[in-house]
Amino acid sequence: MEDLSGLLQKNLLGIKNRIQAACTRADRATESVTLICVTKYARLEWVSELTKLDYRDLAESRTQQLEERSELLPPDVHWHFIGPLQRNKVRKTIQHSHLIHSVDSEKLLNTIDRVAGESGLKPRVLIEVNLSGEANKKGFQKTELQQLWPSLCQNSHAQISGLMTMAPHVDDPEAARPVFRELSVLRDTLQAISPSSIQLQELSMGMSGDFEVGIEEGATLIRVGSALFEGLDTLTGN
Ligand SMILES: *Cc1c(COP(=O)(O)O)cnc(C)c1O
Repeated sequence: MEDLSGLLQKNLLGIKNRIQAACTRADRATESVTLICVTKYARLEWVSELTKLDYRDLAESRTQQLEERSELLPPDVHWHFIGPLQRNKVRKTIQHSHLIHSVDSEKLLNTIDRVAGESGLKPRVLIEVNLSGEANKKGFQKTELQQLWPSLCQNSHAQISGLMTMAPHVDDPEAARPVFRELSVLRDTLQAISPSSIQLQELSMGMSGDFEVGIEEGATLIRVGSALFEGLDTLTGN
């Protein structure tokens, strides 16, 4: 009978094989892609097991759960914040985050910058871009972002380290390709007009259903949740 650790390792192996195959197709080194384990829907004991297997990049989408778990799990975990961030939660969120992926407005960036200055922190952030055209998606519109870029670069405490996007919600992973490609091109365009203090090295794109496409289009960070925890809630005793 399969136990928690065995099933988790099986899922991880499947994901690692998919990452490896995508890297081979794209002629990229496997180490150039970081697997971020999205734990927002995972039970604490599953997450704890992941850290025992030495996974250190974990993502949450709510400040409260981020805060609780960062106190319960090993201190060397790199916590990624990937959810909508309310400005009144910025102070707590930057204390616990290694990287915030979801900066979706100028107001939010300015708040992070101000609070970071007050707290003596230099939080790394990604700018979330809405390229799928879906109105319900968060993030900057592309033209808006290009216009605002010089002023966003003025922030001195928040360190803009790259871009993040969410692909349209459809079954076909190929539908994500033009969106991911556009994010990569946009990164190059923005890098060219950035001061040298800003290095957009990270592209956060790809989830359980489409991370291979993300890797093929240059993702450095992939955010994987459901593929990782598949089947875990059917284990006996749970
Ligand atoms: C939940 C979530 C993910 C993980 O999605 P899966 O399809 O479960 O892999 C990735 N990114 C963000 C922003 C999320 O909210």
